[in-house]
Amino acid sequence: MLGEGILKGLAETAKNFAGSFFSAERLTTVEYPEDRIAPIEAARVFPILIYDGLDWEAGLRCVACQICEKECPPKCIFIEKSKDKKPDVLGKPQFYPAAFDIDISVCMSCQICVEVCPFEAIKMDTVYELSTEDRFEGLLLDRRQLARPNRYYQQIHPTEAGVVDARLAADKVKSDAKAKAASDATAAKAAAAPAAQNSPKPGEGN
Ligand code: SF4
Ligand code: SF4
Repeated sequence: MLGEGILKGLAETAKNFAGSFFSAERLTTVEYPEDRIAPIEAARVFPILIYDGLDWEAGLRCVACQICEKECPPKCIFIEKSKDKKPDVLGKPQFYPAAFDIDISVCMSCQICVEVCPFEAIKMDTVYELSTEDRFEGLLLDRRQLARPNRYYQQIHPTEAGVVDARLAADKVKSDAKAKAASDATAAKAAAAPAAQNSPKPGEGN
């Protein structure tokens, strides 16, 4: 019949229109800000810096390698590398960011900084209510404002954080085993040195 397709299309549209008022699974909007939808686990807004332990400054995983700063497409990360080093989570002396700022008025939430970070130090937050009247200083976040404990990361991205934690724990086991092997080798060498000194030289003791 002529126009049958058009009528079918209109019927489908009318069904969807009416359903959007009465069908629970089609009610995809809420009356914000009175109602809020909790962000899904895969949600990403702006980056945060993860730290281990209780001291945000000492525990920052970032080693100021500046890879994220170089790779960030709109260049909204600003890092100043420290002059000295501090032990990282594996106990290895590392540089740290004396300054680490992100201009979230420029950030496009692409997550490239997260993908390129070799130290699991930068992750995406799910908080989106960040509006401010100060569009310059208010949206330029420093390392203290960006720092979040690992337990926060575990809360917002539990699956991803579980994988990261397992990898870091395995790295720690490997690193401890390596350090122990090196220390055992040094101790064995030190113990062997006096024995070699005390052993009789050729021709002595005959
Ligand atoms: S999410 Fe993208 S734009 Fe934002 S800081 Fe990271 S790399 Fe830059
Ligand atoms: S966040 Fe990661 S990639 Fe960026 S400077 Fe720190 S360690 Fe390097």
